[in-house]
Amino acid sequence: MTKDQKAVLAGLRALYPDAGPELHFSNPYETLVATILAAQCTDARVNQVTPAVFRDFPDPRAMAKTTPETLYPYVKSCGFKSKAANIVNACRMIVDEYGGEVPCTLEELTRLPGVGRKTANVVLAFSFGVPAIPVDTHVFRVANRLGLADALTVEETERQLMELIPRKDWSQAHHWMIFHGRRVCHSQKPSCEGCALKPHCKAAHMDEMINPKAEAKKRAQARKARAAEG
Ligand code: SF4
Repeated sequence: MTKDQKAVLAGLRALYPDAGPELHFSNPYETLVATILAAQCTDARVNQVTPAVFRDFPDPRAMAKTTPETLYPYVKSCGFKSKAANIVNACRMIVDEYGGEVPCTLEELTRLPGVGRKTANVVLAFSFGVPAIPVDTHVFRVANRLGLADALTVEETERQLMELIPRKDWSQAHHWMIFHGRRVCHSQKPSCEGCALKPHCKAAHMDEMINPKAEAKKRAQARKARAAEG
């Protein structure tokens, strides 16, 4: 770990000591449903709809008995009709294949409709206490700008972060980066001038890295150059 990476992690820890999930859930089923709904939607919006969803469909068995058409009006404001179908179908699979209990391994979770690696990692980390680093758009952007990763894909970013960050801090570090991405290191206009991490940030002095597309291009070029050097 470089000096800057060490300083960045210490800085994130100091900035966001209470960072935690902003979605509301209280068991693995609720975590799963809320996280499926949160894809390309704000946590605040999801938190508005989930109380009624959890009231009327309190567990996987209740959800499995309904239809996507019945669920859709509850979750319409979270976008994408497919989310309602994924939730109902995931719960049917949970009932049919896992005895009504949300499974607790990455392999099993990612078999469920609508559940990718990021959603599965959120469920593992926050419902089963399994250390994980779910890489969403904020974590991907912030980790690469700060120099905690140097990757073109979320999978590679996840792998590099898991190598760099002590396992005991994985879940918390994921929250630090989400908080920083939402509050300071915005996608289009990061607030670099007011950012406490600027002295150690790899992107801070590279204007082209602040533009997400240019960031990816820049990293691809750097990679190509390194490969050419052998
Ligand atoms: S200095 Fe700018 S690019 Fe770096 S983490 Fe802070 S806001 Fe993001």
